[in-house]
Amino acid sequence: MSELVRRCARCILPETYPHIDFDGNGVCRVCREFDEKYSGIDWEERERRLSSLMGRYRGRGRHKYDCMVPFSGGKDSTYTLWTVKNRYDMTPLAFNFDNGFLDPGALAFAKASADRLGVDLYTYTPARAFLRRVYGRALEATGEFCAACVVLMPTAIFRAADIHGIRLIVAGFSDMLEAPPPETSYMDRVCFWNIMKGHFSRKELEWDFFFPSWKRMFGVKQINLPDYIEWDLPRIYDTLNRELDFGKSMSDVRYDCLGTPHSSYLFRRRTGFGKYEYLYANMTRAGVIDREEALRIVREREPLEPPEGFDEFIGDLGCDRSVLDGIEKKSVFSFRGRNRRIRNLAIRIRERLP
Ligand SMILES: [Zn+2]
Repeated sequence: MSELVRRCARCILPETYPHIDFDGNGVCRVCREFDEKYSGIDWEERERRLSSLMGRYRGRGRHKYDCMVPFSGGKDSTYTLWTVKNRYDMTPLAFNFDNGFLDPGALAFAKASADRLGVDLYTYTPARAFLRRVYGRALEATGEFCAACVVLMPTAIFRAADIHGIRLIVAGFSDMLEAPPPETSYMDRVCFWNIMKGHFSRKELEWDFFFPSWKRMFGVKQINLPDYIEWDLPRIYDTLNRELDFGKSMSDVRYDCLGTPHSSYLFRRRTGFGKYEYLYANMTRAGVIDREEALRIVREREPLEPPEGFDEFIGDLGCDRSVLDGIEKKSVFSFRGRNRRIRNLAIRIRERLP
């Protein structure tokens, strides 16, 4: 991580971030947009909405479960599962999905926690050899293997809900803390297919990467708990350490995917800044971590050289270092995606489900 680069005085975003500017106080555009978006949220009102929503689904699943919680064993999904079960008295199904790179420690913790919470756990692990071919193609074409995973994950989550007759998915994804910069990341299923066609048949990809039909999609509501309750990380860590022996602290944020160091390195090669850099910038901006500490952690974790095990990792995907040639010019944006208006309309319809 270069020390010469100018950074936002509030978060740590560098001047290499797309379309960034700094105001008179050295505060960046992303921080200013953040304040506009998140100031004045009435969390009590949100919580009332959550409570009435839970009430509408409690006892109303087609089979055993009121809702499903995508559950990696990380802090956010574990806290979501804990809240849904203990605060809202729901009967959730915990769904653990292994994208091929799930940290075995996270999986072990997920199993133990589901057991302690008295929650059923359902796991799905698509064949690794197949996933690696898909990731390999995504890496070759776009410079990032995560492009495939951002289609894979929601599809697996939807399939699991559909299979179990579940009409509500409660996820722990925090837009505020985790969302990737929209300037660098985009994906939809039309774009994904344009990347994959010629390398895979539609049938090969159908189950794991495509939704069955809009009609069935619209029968399942999905919400993110951090949109409804204030995502107070110190309190979340406290709760998890006390109730479930989580055994981690805030300065030790780990991502459950073992591919993260490699994807962060590739991301940096393409964009000029790293994934840890924007994730810790998000945390700093939201006030959950101190700026100096974020800088120290990013300095430690953000490699300028390929991280340890890089060649084995991409070798597993059927690639070698030739994927780095011209990577600055590779992007998911080179592939045609879905018409934005249709996409936004579909998102709005799903958001309005009761
Ligand atoms: Zn900033």
